Amino acid sequence: MSQFWSEVVNRLTPYVPGEQPKITNLVKLNTNENPYPPSPAVLEAIHHETHANLRLYPDPNSSRLKQAIADYHQLNLDQVFVGNGSDEVLALVFQALLKHDKPLLYPDITYSFYPVYCGLYDIEAELIPLAEDFSIRIEDYRRPNGGIIFPNPNAPTGCLLPLTAVEQLLQMHPESVVVVDEAYIDFGGESAISLVSQYPNLLVIQTLSKSRSLAGLRVGFAVGQADLIDALERVKNSFNSYPLDRLAVAGATAAFADDAYFRDTCSKVIASRESLASSLTQLGFEVLPSAANFIFARHPQRDAVQLAASLREKGIIVRHFKLPRIDQFLRISIGTEEECSALVTELTRILHS
Ligand code: PMP
Repeated sequence: MSQFWSEVVNRLTPYVPGEQPKITNLVKLNTNENPYPPSPAVLEAIHHETHANLRLYPDPNSSRLKQAIADYHQLNLDQVFVGNGSDEVLALVFQALLKHDKPLLYPDITYSFYPVYCGLYDIEAELIPLAEDFSIRIEDYRRPNGGIIFPNPNAPTGCLLPLTAVEQLLQMHPESVVVVDEAYIDFGGESAISLVSQYPNLLVIQTLSKSRSLAGLRVGFAVGQADLIDALERVKNSFNSYPLDRLAVAGATAAFADDAYFRDTCSKVIASRESLASSLTQLGFEVLPSAANFIFARHPQRDAVQLAASLREKGIIVRHFKLPRIDQFLRISIGTEEECSALVTELTRILHS
């Protein structure tokens, strides 16, 4: 392979998504989906849209959904951007806002899509090591940069950066765009959306894939002041990216209207997380504090790859990352109560055999 070509290939190292197995009777705790179905109101809205309007093209601006998000979060319509999953929103954010003559800062252990986008869009990055306890230490971000991005809670650790610290970061770098990727914020964190009106350098990204059980629909959004949102719209339109389809707009809009269901689902996931964390601790695992719908844990005496393989033999799949510092951890998505119990039963058997 020529040097030119190998450089291109290195730059385009693709993201490896979590497995979506063909076998259906597995206890699937590997990709942080919600174990509960979407609200019945969502299913009804999709059903209605299918019958009434599927022959029509979608609204290129997804205005109904943007309005629902704006109303829900008390924002103006021009402060909301929507995309096909937050991965598409992130891709456009990297293209529109994060290419700079100074490096983009993000934690060394974080969502593995960020390095992929940096490679794809030729963005220089500086990785800031997490603290000993895996938390983000904002003092370490006091350095020249062309933007900052991090998930809050972080992935795959689940650790939360308090809102006061997010605000300090915004004040530390008023000239930099600070992107807070809140894919998991509804499971115990306080969203930075409340800071949007005060900080023109803040962009918050959320998804309907996790807390609203709609991973299959592909809906994510960004909120920020109108200038940042306008930049995203310009890039999306320049690339002639696809608008959200009619079913996505109808389902996602309905999801924001059923707040009681959303709160109830989040509470159930949080309760299961706390109970699973305590069961794993009793089994000897070191469990990082999680504010997400997954747990990141390691067993001091057992190899993580072997544990994952033994669980898999019993039809339970969890996620393992072959990366420095975290290769002895397992990331376990929170399932239903029954799924969590099945996991604990199997782990108990493995550890005592
Ligand atoms: N951000 C983080 C931190 C994630 O873990 C994920 C899910 N893998 C996403 C964004 C993307 O989610 P989606 O594209 O389903 O909205």
